Amino acid sequence: MKIMSINAGSSSLKFSLFEMDTKTCIASGYFERVTMEGSFYTIKYQGEKIREEVDMPNHMIAVEILLDRLGSLDIIQSLDEIEGVGHRLAHGSSKYKSSALITDELMEDFKSYTELAPLHIPANILGIEAIRKALPDVAMVGVFDTSFHQTLDVTKYIYPVPYEWYKKYGIRKYGFHGTSYRYICEQIPRLLGKDEYKAIICHLGSGASIAAVKNGKCIDTSMGFTPVVGVMMGTRSGDIDPSILPFIMKKEDKTIEEVMDDLNKKSGFLGLSECSNDFRDIYKGVQEGSEQCQLAFDKFVQTVVNYIATYYVELDGADVICFTAGLGENASEARCAIMEKLSCLGVRLDQKANEVRGEEIKISSDDSSILCFVVPTNEELMIAEDTLSLIGE
Ligand code: AMP
Repeated sequence: MKIMSINAGSSSLKFSLFEMDTKTCIASGYFERVTMEGSFYTIKYQGEKIREEVDMPNHMIAVEILLDRLGSLDIIQSLDEIEGVGHRLAHGSSKYKSSALITDELMEDFKSYTELAPLHIPANILGIEAIRKALPDVAMVGVFDTSFHQTLDVTKYIYPVPYEWYKKYGIRKYGFHGTSYRYICEQIPRLLGKDEYKAIICHLGSGASIAAVKNGKCIDTSMGFTPVVGVMMGTRSGDIDPSILPFIMKKEDKTIEEVMDDLNKKSGFLGLSECSNDFRDIYKGVQEGSEQCQLAFDKFVQTVVNYIATYYVELDGADVICFTAGLGENASEARCAIMEKLSCLGVRLDQKANEVRGEEIKISSDDSSILCFVVPTNEELMIAEDTLSLIGE
């Protein structure tokens, strides 16, 4: 049985097609610059990467091209083979505590959450509508980034601001990257050889967050009402004092939207280094002696360590720390710096194991008080599995 997972962004569309009997990804692809000039796609299939520049003025056309190429590249013989499509959805508010079949009611709810994720939700909707038009009879499932964090206790999700803001507008911590956390949580019992555990999971990609998890249940997480807070990221600031906003608005004669844009797109690694949002460039800068790259590296490590320390206390200890996503899986230098700063908790690094990039591996030494693992995430498979289980019901 074949299931497709879709992640639609404002100018992009990622897909993975799974054979669910074997849980293998048959083909995956990335459609970029959709709605813009110079649009192109890449499709990975049977070890090959196919790239084609093709005009994609909107998401409908991107999906039409995707489905056409699945046939012309002989990835599938007929569209009927696709039995379900799962969509990564940015926000499920407080209502969606797990994935759900995409119905008219869900679409209405989802549209009403647009203010909570104004960049992502309209793009997700375009992705759903494009698939619905091209595959009108296929069941679709929404997999929400926020669902995993719906188990947070009120003391963790409430902000100490006028309570009315929560009641009237739903101002609270929602948390993100939930699909990735769920995937990692499915791996932890196998890694530890037990079902009961306390874990600190570091999802460190261009967007980065950390979660404290007890036996698969989220206890706390670093992103909040929006993904801009928590640890420092590629272009997002992470935690800052909100008074900086009106101060900069006055000094630089900027609107609130412009300052928020600075915090979302011009901060983090990019902001501090003034050269790149990509960790690889930052680390290259560190090796070449750039003081600003070193500052960006050190600040990132510090913010991650601070959250791990906080969650260690919130969980009353930890059995395991997991590193995942692009940077967490690959940036051994960052993992090394983070783990060295945790030595007061008894964390010890296995230097040799830590040199491995992008593979599941234990990176703590045998005398470490906390097991530390690199665990590659697979959000797409998680989306496909949710889709399979919901369309089967
Ligand atoms: P993601 O958003 O999960 O794709 O992660 C992107 C981040 O992972 C970027 O900061 C990249 O620099 C970082 N990254 C990806 N590959 C590597 C690598 N081989 N070594 C170090 N960092 C990497």
